[in-house]
Amino acid sequence: MSNPRSVASTTPPVCVLGLGLIGGSLLRAAVRAGRKGWGYNRSDATAAAAREDGFDASTDLRAVLGRAEAESALIVIAVPMPAVDATLDAIAEYAPSCPITDVVSVKAAVLEAVSAHGMSPKYVGGHPMAGTSASGWTVGSVNLFREAVWVVDTRHDVDPHIWRQVAQLALDCGAVVVPAEPVEHDSVVARISHLPHLLAETLAVTGDAGGPLALGLAAGSFRDGTRVAGSSPTLVRAMCEGNRDALLVALDEALALLTATRASLDAEASVADLVDAGHAARGRYDEQTHWEIVGIEPGSDDWAKRLQDAGRRGGRIRRL
Ligand code: NAD
Repeated sequence: MSNPRSVASTTPPVCVLGLGLIGGSLLRAAVRAGRKGWGYNRSDATAAAAREDGFDASTDLRAVLGRAEAESALIVIAVPMPAVDATLDAIAEYAPSCPITDVVSVKAAVLEAVSAHGMSPKYVGGHPMAGTSASGWTVGSVNLFREAVWVVDTRHDVDPHIWRQVAQLALDCGAVVVPAEPVEHDSVVARISHLPHLLAETLAVTGDAGGPLALGLAAGSFRDGTRVAGSSPTLVRAMCEGNRDALLVALDEALALLTATRASLDAEASVADLVDAGHAARGRYDEQTHWEIVGIEPGSDDWAKRLQDAGRRGGRIRRL
């Protein structure tokens, strides 16, 4: 894609609200890419740790947002879903004209909150598909987003200029951009992220019920299958409960598969249907190919629809 605007307008300063794993990694990566950036965290300890690492961080939300307003920064909301409303209240008060993005794992609920604040014309959501089961500034990494997918909200009425700013931030952090519409994003993320979290918790509980001998024998399949059960319960609840409708659909499908498998194991001593289907599905994941989206100019006719379609078909943006 060519860039008709000045470099400065697509790479504004970045103001990160919440310097945990994701916000902290984002600030590190944006600054390494040459972007001006600063951040806010509610706790003194985190803001001090970020400053010790050489970053501009403060617990003074009003000052941080005032500076964003003065410098026309792109604001990045990097707090859990339950804290989004209060964060939007503060933005409305202290930085009412700034463009806004976020990294929250659900997109429709954030868009709803943003719309309730009358801020949707300035908002383009984001979701970096990267993370670890650890939390906080200290576990962040400048390389967390390298080659990761970063979903950028490409709903039909999105502002093309802000869209470009958000996509450029993702690219500057080392990610590749997948354009997607928020409801569709939530529907697929329920399947590949939120349901896996619930299944990991289920496996962990079921294994643990076998007592010390079971845990003592546990090896690769238990370790890998339960890895995300090590994530912060607060964050997992925020993700899953914030995507309730889509997660219920995915959960019902999974339960139907397990119920049918139980019946078949009981009646025919066979788990073949699930195992064969699962093996084939995993093979499709391993063999999937991706291609680079080029030639769709943000702001051109039907651009959002064409980008959504390209994202749906495995396309990724590597440069603007
Ligand atoms: P984290 O626990 O490492 O950081 C959370 C941050 O939010 C901290 O800075 C914390 O101080 C702040 N915060 C929490 N509650 C707050 C409140 N009530 N008011 C103000 N600040 C508050 O978590 P994280 O993994 O960095 O997650 C941040 C966001 O990124 C979440 O919305 C999460 O859904 C999303 N996300 C997480 C992952 C992941 O794998 N961890 C991946 C992609 C997106």
